[in-house]
Amino acid sequence: MKAMTSAHIEEIMSIVKTGRVLTDESDRFSYSFDGSFGTYLPDAVIQTKSVEELAALVKFANRERIPVYPRGQSTCLSGGPLPVKGGMVFDLSVMNDLLEISEEDLVAIVSPGVLTADIHKAAEKKGLLYPPDPNSSHVSTIGGNMAENSGGPRGLKYGVTKDYVIGLELITPEGDIIKTGGRTVKNVTGYDLTKLIVGSEGTLGIITKAVLRLLPKPPASETVMAVFDSLIDAGSAISKILSAGILPAKMELMDQASIVAVENYEPLGLPVDAAAIILLELDGHPAALKDEVKQAADLCKSVGARDIRIPQNVAEKAEVWKARKLVSPAIVRIKPTKISEDATVPRSKIPQMCARLQQIRDKYNVHLVVFGHAGDGNLHPNIICDKSDKEEMQRVEQAVAEIFTAAVELGGTLSGEHGIGTMKAPFMEMELGAIGLDMMKRIKEVWDPNNIMNPGKIFPEPGQKLELS
Ligand SMILES: Cc1cc2nc3c(=O)[nH]c(=O)nc-3n(C[C@H](O)[C@H](O)[C@H](O)COP(=O)(O)OP(=O)(O)OC[C@H]3O[C@@H](n4cnc5c(N)ncnc54)[C@H](O)[C@@H]3O)c2cc1C
Repeated sequence: MKAMTSAHIEEIMSIVKTGRVLTDESDRFSYSFDGSFGTYLPDAVIQTKSVEELAALVKFANRERIPVYPRGQSTCLSGGPLPVKGGMVFDLSVMNDLLEISEEDLVAIVSPGVLTADIHKAAEKKGLLYPPDPNSSHVSTIGGNMAENSGGPRGLKYGVTKDYVIGLELITPEGDIIKTGGRTVKNVTGYDLTKLIVGSEGTLGIITKAVLRLLPKPPASETVMAVFDSLIDAGSAISKILSAGILPAKMELMDQASIVAVENYEPLGLPVDAAAIILLELDGHPAALKDEVKQAADLCKSVGARDIRIPQNVAEKAEVWKARKLVSPAIVRIKPTKISEDATVPRSKIPQMCARLQQIRDKYNVHLVVFGHAGDGNLHPNIICDKSDKEEMQRVEQAVAEIFTAAVELGGTLSGEHGIGTMKAPFMEMELGAIGLDMMKRIKEVWDPNNIMNPGKIFPEPGQKLELS
């Protein structure tokens, strides 16, 4: 990798004719962090809506061996957009002009900087649904969602971003513009490059346009809140409901620490003395829903739920889901640093994972908050800490490593939806094995022979360890 010179900046400025090149330190600082850990200053930030200008910049970067870091809104929780080796950041949030819904083809055509919540709204206006709904959907871009293969509460029933991306336009790391897939749901022409790009965390190219599959919107939905005196019982209720053949659209868990944090942040009448609550959303035909709500409530009671609450109108339902949305902002008021993990286990192992998390919390004496998309095993163990306290951060490092080990030992994965980025790279071999990891590395080398596209992500550097202290 080369350091950038003033001649490089001049060449960049000559390429970017319609956009902006930011080089002041104060501007660059705004692009030095994401929702995870660490700050890294880029040498230049590019804002342009022109795909041709971006492609020319990538060609220049490939020739000069300058790192390129694609960036959406920087809400990533694993370090994905961090410019860890300097170079250029491409601010793709400015590419937000295209959002077209085709009712005939049941697709949306979007540019990468469009906010995911705007796609939800545009689809719903036409009676359609774009299911992936990360809790950050009002602030994150569809480009970032595709690069991270983001999930969200609806992942349980509807799957994740990759299940809805059927076509892409991409600038390759060598600066060429290619198309993958298209507008048809069926497409088996050669290797599925669309699926390879989705979830590649910006390491295989810059997504400049996408075709997303849409569904008809379900006619009705109901919400159920079940209150438990034991986190492990709550875990058992999740397994029980799913094995009874009920597939909720959402099934979210909040432990006591997150319930208390939300109530302190904004009182919503949550049961602060409960060990956990489960929030369910069931959707479908109204007649079938009546039955499913009763069945789910009975199953929760059978494994020890002490209370079941069923909101009766739209406002009451919104209030319940607001509680879940507020967990992230609420818990950072406890201490300033939030280490947000998303290790995921098979559904049947949720009660064991809940028990392992409690052991890890006690063993390392860390402030562990557990919430998340429990129905698909994608718990979000968050450790709330203070990065200026070195001794505490060492305990946090050990706890995080043990959370990853527990997930992999239970047959799960390091990341259900937040991606590997910088933080989980040292643990990749533990999950994939040396050869599995090497096969991935070889794909990266073929796509990006000079390693200019988002270098320093996914693949561990020799001897790299998790370092938070
Ligand atoms: C409060 C909060 C709640 C969250 N909830 C969820 C959740 O429920 N589910 C979930 O999955 N995630 C969640 N996240 C994580 C985060 O919002 C997602 O990873 C999101 O997809 C990131 O989008 P972004 O626009 O912020 O992208 P960024 O953070 O800017 O970038 C993310 C990655 O995408 C790459 N990238 C961005 N745009 C492009 C492009 N056009 N082409 C190629 N690569 C690109 C970047 O290089 C980086 O690797 C949450 C985050 C926060 C802060």
